[in-house]
Amino acid sequence: MESWGSIAVPKLNYPLQMPSLILTDSKTQAKKLLAKKDVYRMYVCGITPYDATHLGHAATYLTFDLLQRYLRASGSTVNYVQNITDIDDPLLERANRDGVDWQVLAHSQIDLFRSDMNALRVIPPAHYIGAVEAIPLVVQAIQGLSSKGTTYLIEDDLYFENGACDDFGSLSHLSKAEMESIFAQRGGDPTLVGKKDSLDCLVWMAQRPGEPGWDSELGTGRPGWHIECTAIAYQYLVPDPESPELIDIQGGGSDLIFPHHEMCRSQATVLTGKELASTYVHAGMLGLDGEKMSKSKGNLVFVSTLLAEGVDPMVIRYALMMEHYHRDRMWTNDVLLQANQEVNKLRAALSMDHVAPTETVIAEVIHALSNDLDTPAALHALQSWTIKSQEGSGDGDATTLRICLDALLGLVL
Ligand code: ZN
Repeated sequence: MESWGSIAVPKLNYPLQMPSLILTDSKTQAKKLLAKKDVYRMYVCGITPYDATHLGHAATYLTFDLLQRYLRASGSTVNYVQNITDIDDPLLERANRDGVDWQVLAHSQIDLFRSDMNALRVIPPAHYIGAVEAIPLVVQAIQGLSSKGTTYLIEDDLYFENGACDDFGSLSHLSKAEMESIFAQRGGDPTLVGKKDSLDCLVWMAQRPGEPGWDSELGTGRPGWHIECTAIAYQYLVPDPESPELIDIQGGGSDLIFPHHEMCRSQATVLTGKELASTYVHAGMLGLDGEKMSKSKGNLVFVSTLLAEGVDPMVIRYALMMEHYHRDRMWTNDVLLQANQEVNKLRAALSMDHVAPTETVIAEVIHALSNDLDTPAALHALQSWTIKSQEGSGDGDATTLRICLDALLGLVL
């Protein structure tokens, strides 16, 4: 599927000390140093296109954008793949509810997502893959699981035995009761009659009356959600045969840790005998005015709405960086106002003839980002530099700082 337009990232044309990146790994629940590599393989789960991009999505994709920018500035290449779940129950349910064709709904929301990402200067993935176009890959992956005797039929639907992965649960660290409860809340079917285990997951759903289906060796139907990402990641990230893991980074919002990423990991491990990712990175959830932001509460704040209201996309980007990616946080109007003030001050300082020394602040920004993408510390360093510049004196190079902000933080000011 066509991605959004490319985002120009300026080259940092003078030698910078870029320490190795430290990230919080969900599997070990600890900070982990990312080994230096020439090419990183990164897979980030994309949207199900039945609602526009809300700020929670934006915060997640911004996190992986910062990660990619840091690795690129360190001289590495990032092979970045993102999917779009353009066929799944929530999409069909929303299309039914609104009386629109599911494909029309999906295309309109994918277009909106692309323009939101472009406005926020999020670097597009090298491969942007829809579930529908990936069906042959999914079928192949399911056949691989079946050849290992780990799938079974319930009526005409095919299920995968997650227990075939010896350490199933080692990513989410949840008890079985917790998993069952979350699985039920997030679209799973733990109590379905005929399952060998409550946590087994659907990999191929036979066509239902009135719903779309695709012909395949598995019968006419459509893919389950988890196997879609497993198959796309495996195909498009071309794992290094020498590596004990298939890819370097698997990412998404923290609500994907279970069941989605746990089950992708389980499928990938059974299919290949390897760990899916060397590092699992998850962005925290975003709430609004003290409440969890969710579709069911109807309190989502959409990027497109803010942009239509005339909010500067760089202010949205700055506001999302004011809290650490890993933490859950609240969005309030005050956050936006504060970001607006800080961006204005920074812009004004950058346009002054004489600014405070810039080498130190650039080093501070890089150091902060290297430490688990600590954007609050990076922005704090910029605020101190802005104050020093306003106080006068200095022989800094605002142009160089501006290039660094663009390359590393995606801020064009
Ligand atoms: Zn996914």
